[in-house]
Amino acid sequence: MKRILFLRGAELLVFAFLATIPLMVVNPYALGLLTLLAIYGILLIGLDVTVGYLGQVNLAHVAFLGLGAYTAGLVVTKLGLGLVPALAAATAVGLALGGLLALPALRLEGPQFALATLSFAALSTTALNELESLTGGAQGLSLTRPPVFGLTLTPPIFFWLCLVLLAMVWMVMRNLLASQWGRAFEALRDSPIATDAMGVGTYYHKVAAFSLGSGLGGLAGGLYAFNFQYLQPQSFVYELMIILLLGVVLGGRKSLWGAFVGATVVVLLPNLLSNALLFHIFSGAGFALALVAGLRGLLKKTTRPFQALAPVVAMGILAIGGFFVENTEDWRKGIFALMLFSVVVGLPEGLMGFLAIFLAKLFRVPPSPLPEPSDLEAVLPQRAQGDGSLLVLEDLKRHFGGVKAVDGLSMQVRAGTIHGLIGPNGSGKSTVVNVISGLYTPSSGGVALRGVPLPQGSLTGVARAGVARTFQNLQLFSELTAIENVMVALKDVYRMPLPLVLLGFARAQERRAQADALALLDLIGLKDQARTRAKDLTYGAQRFLEIARALARKPDLLILDEPAAGLSHPDVLQQIEIIKRVHARGVTIILIEHHMDVVSELCDQVTVLDGGKVIAEGAPEDVKRHPKVIEAYLGQASDSAPSSGAEPLPA
Ligand code: ADP
Ligand code: MG
Repeated sequence: MKRILFLRGAELLVFAFLATIPLMVVNPYALGLLTLLAIYGILLIGLDVTVGYLGQVNLAHVAFLGLGAYTAGLVVTKLGLGLVPALAAATAVGLALGGLLALPALRLEGPQFALATLSFAALSTTALNELESLTGGAQGLSLTRPPVFGLTLTPPIFFWLCLVLLAMVWMVMRNLLASQWGRAFEALRDSPIATDAMGVGTYYHKVAAFSLGSGLGGLAGGLYAFNFQYLQPQSFVYELMIILLLGVVLGGRKSLWGAFVGATVVVLLPNLLSNALLFHIFSGAGFALALVAGLRGLLKKTTRPFQALAPVVAMGILAIGGFFVENTEDWRKGIFALMLFSVVVGLPEGLMGFLAIFLAKLFRVPPSPLPEPSDLEAVLPQRAQGDGSLLVLEDLKRHFGGVKAVDGLSMQVRAGTIHGLIGPNGSGKSTVVNVISGLYTPSSGGVALRGVPLPQGSLTGVARAGVARTFQNLQLFSELTAIENVMVALKDVYRMPLPLVLLGFARAQERRAQADALALLDLIGLKDQARTRAKDLTYGAQRFLEIARALARKPDLLILDEPAAGLSHPDVLQQIEIIKRVHARGVTIILIEHHMDVVSELCDQVTVLDGGKVIAEGAPEDVKRHPKVIEAYLGQASDSAPSSGAEPLPA
């Protein structure tokens, strides 16, 4: 209850306060700024989806603002329709074009993605300019605000409309981010490979997110058109693009509040800067902020001296320089650039991120309690006793240039068994796992599960066919908590269609997901650390958690790539215990393992690889005595725990 009051109370208060302003203030200029604030709030929430949640530099958002604005303008002027259809069309254009741009662009990463979005922005400005017969080109497009249901949209009423839309967008986004979608966004930034391997399509989620963000850009554009009632292509160019990015970064990424604070700064800043006194106050405050942020960084040793100093000096120059400059307005672009620089260097978490650290200390709100764990039978149903082969590899090959990592491997894994896959380092074990799980496409040969060929080169496809895996080098979603890591992977739980999720109907489904995930955490002995972030767990616990996450897929086949690597002796014992428990549920397991004693204890059948080929096969005791196996293992310290990848266990 305290939590709800604190979190929602602040939102309600701010919105209520904003809504009452037109009743108290009649200054049309101030009202105009407030309206723009609401519009930019929507715009920046949309931009934050890509910049914050997907972690991609998106330079196309200004284009969606422009396209939305022109769409709304044209719907009103050319088609003679009303405001509601105009806004709907603007949103739809943003959604559709955003999706179309995302399909090719999101195959790219980092700078290339930024370039692709930059060219889209340039292209759309050109199009708006050149399609003169439609848009009026550089002449601009004038429109009037049509009445809605007979109601004339006076400035206060239009402001309220924008505010209501902002509140709706806020709620919808909060619902989305609190659902499996929000977790998927976090997960795919931490480890796209693991996200795909858990059956959650990274690419699909990225495209959908980009399209959604662009749709919000389009909606904001529609409102922008009715706000200014005059459009020009030049309004939607680079300066605004930089300002928007500044807003998101300055306000704080991955935060609705951050977007709102960013919008406030972006809208008020140019106006503040044009007044000399306000400029001095503002730059002084900026200087103080840079100083505080810099000192904090230095004290906590999170920043180097230069990093802390650069923004302080920059803001200092700005604050002092302001006394010597006649017309501060001309300095705007420079000031924006300087601020962006200072924030990126000195305050990477943004204003809200910075404030949140203090707020979190002031208000310690207990998280809502977790539900009782589900019945394990519902989460990981007991499999019937197996018969026959579950997995068949046929003459499988995977070469990397001249390296024949896997070179003609044929192998059968019987249902319900634990099948050991062993061999010296570099013998191709991990490559086999990567080929089966779809991370690599095989050079030749095939893999079949229950006689059905597995999709090749598709992590998501293989995951959905019933194969789950862990990684030799951990691939947890490090920013997510233990329970969230498992929840991301849960199969058959998230059935709610997106529109209902947006409206907040996913709560029951979320409780169910929590309960299911808890049951799996209980199985591996981590129930009490459900709310600990994965990166804060001990190394051993992280290894156990990867198994729980894989089990959330309800897999027929579980592939464990060196699950005991780097573990301390007690943790190895617990790992063995966990694997036995999983096996007892009837799950078939392929176990890659270095410790021969672990292999002997757990495995029914063992395949030994060397140089990508099978050198021996059979029961563990027979294989151990095989001359070729002894020979292959003689070169290295076979039975001892390999130290690679091991991390010291925190006390
Ligand atoms: P293991 O897991 O048995 O230690 P790996 O499957 O990791 O062995 O590696 C087998 C061989 O394939 C090694 O020689 C390794 O260098 C090579 N290899 C594995 N992955 C790649 C890759 N992505 N590109 C090039 N060579 C690779
Ligand atoms: Mg390996």
